[in-house]
This record gives sequence, structure tokens and C-alpha cells, in this order.
Amino acid sequence: MDRHEPLCQHLNVTTRFLNGEALIAHYDAEATYRLNEVGSFLWEQCLAPVSTAGLTAQLAERFGLAREQAEADTEGFVSELLEDGLLVREPAFAPPGYPRARLSTPLWNDLEKVGISQYVPVNTEVEITNRCNLSCQHCYLAPRGRVVLTGDETRGVIDDLEELGCFILTLTGGEIFLRRDTLDIVRYARDRQFAVELLTNGNYISAETAQELARLGISRVQVSIYSADPEVHDRITRTRGSLERTIAGVKALTERGIKVVAACVVMSINLETHRSVEILAEELGAQPSFAYPVSAKVDGSKETHRLRLDHEQLYQFHSLNRQKVCRTFDRRTDEPPCHAGSAVCFINSNGDVYPCVVFPMSCGNIRRAELKHIWHSSPQLGTFRQVRIKDLRVCGECELLPYCRLCPGLSWLEDGDMLGPSSIHCEMARSNYRVLTGQPTGQ
Ligand code: SF4
Ligand code: SF4
Repeated sequence: MDRHEPLCQHLNVTTRFLNGEALIAHYDAEATYRLNEVGSFLWEQCLAPVSTAGLTAQLAERFGLAREQAEADTEGFVSELLEDGLLVREPAFAPPGYPRARLSTPLWNDLEKVGISQYVPVNTEVEITNRCNLSCQHCYLAPRGRVVLTGDETRGVIDDLEELGCFILTLTGGEIFLRRDTLDIVRYARDRQFAVELLTNGNYISAETAQELARLGISRVQVSIYSADPEVHDRITRTRGSLERTIAGVKALTERGIKVVAACVVMSINLETHRSVEILAEELGAQPSFAYPVSAKVDGSKETHRLRLDHEQLYQFHSLNRQKVCRTFDRRTDEPPCHAGSAVCFINSNGDVYPCVVFPMSCGNIRRAELKHIWHSSPQLGTFRQVRIKDLRVCGECELLPYCRLCPGLSWLEDGDMLGPSSIHCEMARSNYRVLTGQPTGQ
């Protein structure tokens, strides 16, 4: 080992310090690492280029170690981190922009476990505006005038999220690119090592915007496409020409190597053409994804429910897409029902903090208290975090539990009781069961 060679942290990592210990997500290795107190101290010193000899001196001084002991500890630490690609040799380390944080399933599963067990909002969604150029029939936002988080408020939220240990920041709207400072917000978050995802209708993504997003190493952009047929898509968005602009935006992104998910909310009005989105997505170099059910609006209005698939349509959709959307769930009844309010969090453009996007139970407002204070002290969050599946009325003993996604958020929003069943999830579980077993349920 050359003890004087400069070393540095790999750029494509996020480090968060939880209870004094470093938790590192390494996106290229698709793995997480947890360091003890000594390792965390050494890792922090590697933010700027440093040699093994330099680390040895700092370790000896910080922990009062004899030189030989500090040398042995440092060399072992450096060798392991070089082998795993967490540390890199500085001269080879000159990326032109920010490398992309690729969010793999194993990595997300690791982070989710940390989030649920330690109440860390590892994945947080922030609605930076409720303004939108489209007027989608199924939109869950309630009319409440134009509301935006200011740039200062948004940066304050990002600072708090960094401190709370958040890894993945999702920016949503409204349409996020109606704001002039969206790229500045993304840059601010990337400078703080967040993996950033964007939800957008794609209508305002120019070649220049896409180029800057690529340079900023955005993880993923989710763009809504409801059908490859412009008539159907534009009828849903109630905006002529919207599909054409969305497609142009997706092309601008995929041509620059940005990962795009083409998300199709499946409704009665696009059921016939929903599979055309898969073909279109493939042509555009995007990954198709189906989302359902349409939820009530955040103010509880069920006006959107008219768009939901009825019983037979749901069965038809499940049968057609069995491999992609039908599955069973392996759970213990002493587990929390989901990660809302423990591993995930949602902040709307009015500053209200919710356990998740479909669970609009206000737990506080960032205009009246700091997010980190709300996260640690909200009575609503405290109560929900104690809930286990066995505490749920009906669901805890339901025979369809292994076939049900469960959603306390929709139970709360649509059925008025977060501890009770969600009627739409009962419906979906029955259909899922019927497709997977070939049997109708007795329920
Ligand atoms: S199950 Fe429902 S409430 Fe829980 S995180 Fe998922 S969407 Fe939110
Ligand atoms: S939501 Fe309905 S189907 Fe799902 S576990 Fe609860 S009662 Fe059963």
C-alpha cells in the first residue's frame, strides 16, 4: 500500500449519520454499508482527498491511539473500502458532472428497513407547487388556489431531511417545471448527496433542461402517459396537444441517458388502450409502469371514483397483466402495516407534513415548526408508528391478507378509519386472489 497516495470518497454515494454512525448507500455497488464510530470518523475525513498516512495521524490524535495501532486500523479500513469501491484513488476521480444514483431494489429494501426500524424518512416526497398546466380528470389535488413552497422553505426542508437521514428526495407537483427554480432545487439537493427523482408531465422538458438534469445525475424521472392514443391521453388531461409535448420531453430525457418511467394510471376511460403505453414506452426507451387505483382527492372528495375500474374491469386488468401486477404478500402480523410516517414522508406545497402522499393526515406544518421537530414530535406520527397489522380492525384477521396490499392511508382518506379496511383494497384483494388462485373469494 502506498501510504501517501491521495484517496477520496467515491462520488456516487450518499452518507447519512444516524446516531453518530455513518450509513452509506453506494449506488454503483447497489449496496448499503454501516460504519462504527471509528469507521465513521475516518470516512468523514475522506470527504476531501487524504492519504492513508494522513488518516493514521488523525485517528491516533482523535482516539489517543499508539502509532502502530492507528496504522494497522487505518490500513485495514482503507483496504476494505478500496476493495468495495467506496474509496477511490484521487487522480482517477474527475467526473464531468454528478454520477447518477441508481436506485436498485436491494438497496431500497435495506434503506426501508432502516427507515422503519429507526424512523428515518429515507424516501421523502416534496410537492414544490400545486400549479399545473394540465387539468387531469383523476388528479388527487383539491382546488385551493396556487400554492408553492418558496425557495427558502424548500431548501430548509432539504436541510432538515439531510439531518434526518433522508436518502431519496422526490420532487412532485402540480407540474414542477412551472417553477423557474426547479433545477436550482435539484442542484441544491444533489450537492447534499440526495438521490433525486422527479414526477412531471414532461411538457416543459426542453433539450437544455434534459441536458442539465443529465449533468446533475438525476436518478429517475417519472412521466405520466395515459395512452399512446392522443385522443385518449388528451381527454384525460383535458389539454389538447399534451401527449405530443410529453413524448418530446421523454425523448429529450432518454436521448441523454436519463432513466424514465412512463407511468400510466389505469382507469375505466383508458382501460382499452392502457397496454399501448408499454409499446410507446419501449419505442421511447422508457420503462412502462401501471398505477392504480385512482384515489379520492386530498380533501376527501370522491368525485374521482367515477374513473375507477369496476369489479369486472379490475379482474380484466389483473388477468391481462397478471405477471406484472398480481402477487402475494408475506407479512407477519406484528409488523407495521406499511412504511408511511416511518420510512417515507410527504410535504405538500402548503407546508403540511403527511405520513405519505395518499395519507393526508396533517402531522404539522413546516411554516409553523421545523420539519425535524415535526418528524420527531408529532403525536399523529407517534400514534401511527405504534400500529401493527394485528391492531387493524378486520384486516388483522382477514383471510385475504396475503393477497392484499393494505393501505392505512386510503382507509383513512376514503373510509374514515386508518385502523379499518380500505374498501378499494378489499376489492383489489378479491380480484388478485381470483386471478392467482382461479377461485372467487367467499367475501
Ligand atoms: S400503504 Fe398506503 S399509506 Fe402506506 S405507504 Fe403505501 S400508499 Fe402510503
Ligand atoms: S383491506 Fe380488506 S382485503 Fe385487505 S386485509 Fe383488510 S379487510 Fe382484508
